[in-house]
Amino acid sequence: MDNTDLPFLPFALPEIGEEEIAEVVSSLRSGWVTSGPKAKQFETDFSAWLGGGVESISVNSATAGLHLALEALGIGPGDEVITTTHTFTATAEVIRYLGADPVFVDVDSTTLCIDTAQIQRAITSRTKAIIPVHFAGRSADMRTIIGIARRHGLKVIEDAAHALPTTCNGALIGTLDSDVTVFSFYANKTITTGEGGMLVTRDSEIAKRARIMRLHGINRDAFDRFTAKVPSWYYEIVAPGFKYNLTDIAASIGIHQLKKANFFQKKRQAIAERYNSELAGLPLILPPNAEAGDIHSWHLYVIQLTEDAKVGRDTFIEKMFEQGIGMSVHYVPLHQHPYWRETYTLTPEMFPVSQTIYEHTATLPLYTRMTESDVDRVIGAVKKILG
Ligand SMILES: *Cc1c(COP(=O)(O)O)cnc(C)c1O
Repeated sequence: MDNTDLPFLPFALPEIGEEEIAEVVSSLRSGWVTSGPKAKQFETDFSAWLGGGVESISVNSATAGLHLALEALGIGPGDEVITTTHTFTATAEVIRYLGADPVFVDVDSTTLCIDTAQIQRAITSRTKAIIPVHFAGRSADMRTIIGIARRHGLKVIEDAAHALPTTCNGALIGTLDSDVTVFSFYANKTITTGEGGMLVTRDSEIAKRARIMRLHGINRDAFDRFTAKVPSWYYEIVAPGFKYNLTDIAASIGIHQLKKANFFQKKRQAIAERYNSELAGLPLILPPNAEAGDIHSWHLYVIQLTEDAKVGRDTFIEKMFEQGIGMSVHYVPLHQHPYWRETYTLTPEMFPVSQTIYEHTATLPLYTRMTESDVDRVIGAVKKILG
């Protein structure tokens, strides 16, 4: 059958089961729709699932979680935070929320994650923190990054929006020796709550501050102390906080998505393995696998067309759409966007690796709801265009 006769295959779709739906309905019927028992349960479950004695603080997006993390670490005007240009803007915009400056560095051509040698070179007397991104769900070189941070007295916040579940040197992302890790439950991520995120830390001071700032700067200690003794009208505001709490409706979805996270990862990996074997031999650079023994979440399957490909990247994507297949690009690097380019005088020449990846890259559909024949269809289309 010709691909063009088939219904459009979306780039991404969430997998929501009857368990999630029933849990949402139970929240709706209970009358407790904003942050309450379900949000608390999701946090407890998340900490238990990760292990390693971490605390989990649910938020309404990973962007909110990253903002809270930097705020809790005291990042402010005049500070510099090193991150990668090859990411989504949320990684860097949170630095600007606090009046600090992102310092963008290039990525490693093999791992597509932040280039650790470039981190070293970007450190100045103003540097306060590093935000690595586990690009596509493959871990960044955390051993080296945490080593650099220790030597220079810097904080490490992992943007783990792609990294559930991902391991680094055998340990789950979220349990490493960084200061904070932030996960995303946006609609297209490996598990979803529609919108949502989780801030994870082992530092009780960071956890305490993030909890306060997540909900208007209300001091929960005062809140809890007084609610125990007198009618619960009394609270104290200790800072101009934010409105970043996760609703019970969203947490209801998350509780069941989390239970499926390992199963989802296996499904994603099976699809990635099929792509790996079927697309080998085409004029493509296939995505990097995890280090031996480590888990890749396979959030994204990112290919790069080589110079000998019959068509360029833009045409390739157009032709995939003609075959009824949704595609994306990860990412238009931050140095290309007007705000970042103009504010920090960035040029493509400053980021040769990211720029080259950007010009050649395309992301194939990869999600748990894809059927065997959906996967075959993607493989067939890529072979037809590039073979
Ligand atoms: C999705 C994403 C975010 C933001 O997540 P939200 O939950 O949508 O705020 C941050 N960083 C990266 C790398 C992402 O892919």
